[in-house]
Amino acid sequence: MAYDVIVIGGGPAGLSAAVNVRARGRSVLVVSNPMEESPLWKAELVDNYLGIPGVSGAELLTAFRAHAEKAGAVLREGRVLSALAIGSEWYVSIGSDVESASAIVLAAGVARARKLPGEAEFLGKGVSYCATCDGMLYRGRPVAVVGYSDSAKKEAEFLQSIGCTVTYFDRPRKCEIAGSDKAERVTCDGQTAEVACVFLLRPALAPTDLFPGIAVETGYVQVDRSMATNLPGVFAAGDCTGLPLQVSNAVGQGLVAGQSAAKYAADLARKK
Ligand SMILES: Cc1cc2nc3c(=O)[nH]c(=O)nc-3n(C[C@H](O)[C@H](O)[C@H](O)COP(=O)(O)OP(=O)(O)OC[C@H]3O[C@@H](n4cnc5c(N)ncnc54)[C@H](O)[C@@H]3O)c2cc1C
Repeated sequence: MAYDVIVIGGGPAGLSAAVNVRARGRSVLVVSNPMEESPLWKAELVDNYLGIPGVSGAELLTAFRAHAEKAGAVLREGRVLSALAIGSEWYVSIGSDVESASAIVLAAGVARARKLPGEAEFLGKGVSYCATCDGMLYRGRPVAVVGYSDSAKKEAEFLQSIGCTVTYFDRPRKCEIAGSDKAERVTCDGQTAEVACVFLLRPALAPTDLFPGIAVETGYVQVDRSMATNLPGVFAAGDCTGLPLQVSNAVGQGLVAGQSAAKYAADLARKK
């Protein structure tokens, strides 16, 4: 099914965007990693969200999510790996699935990880970001999973289930990928594994990896007052757009991005 809007990220910015897309009568899909892995979930006490002092991040996020669901947003757990515009439609890959929409709200928070040595060089040549998409290519062979979240373990289990011998590195501090024409080994925290593929499973990708060509400044997505990016139909909100990295800011920006994305989708539908 094609949606009017796809929101990438189910934190305060993404859920606020989704509620406001629904308030404009448009369909919206929110794709996000598990709620328990989001940064806000880990906040023991949020004391500066207007009108609701003294709540935990988990309580706040649970309430935001319930609100978005009640408003009619479709919430889907998954990791968005890439986005591609074909004509006026955006296609978003979620693991090995694809969903499409007229407009996108990028609300993926801050991608904190830096690229590993060898990662860019061997991407697509023995380095992959998705076990369920590329795993079959390495069936029965030795692979490594470098996991930065709890859900990465599920992808490692999938690789084992298709006969791969898996070396699992759990949130290592330092890793390096080496090889000649393709990746052949990975060394993490002093341990080396000879592999056919290294699966790098991070919860978040840099905005420029998700949307090649998106304008960023010091790592943050550039937006105008309507939260539009330089890419037609792509809006952004929350921590991914820069300081202050705070819930109230994310919720406010999510509202603007949601309204702008809904208007963009409605205008496009009128032209068709
Ligand atoms: C310990 C801690 C305490 C904090 N305390 C406070 C506080 O007291 N007050 C306050 O205002 N703020 C606080 N913050 C900051 C606040 O959590 C953030 O500013 C806010 O959550 C930003 O919202 P967001 O929606 O922009 O991004 P996020 O909350 O980061 O949400 C983004 C979501 O998108 C998901 N995602 C990213 N990439 C992808 C992808 N490719 N595919 C699918 N999903 C993806 C992420 O996993 C995440 O769930 C705190 C943060 C931390 C870590």
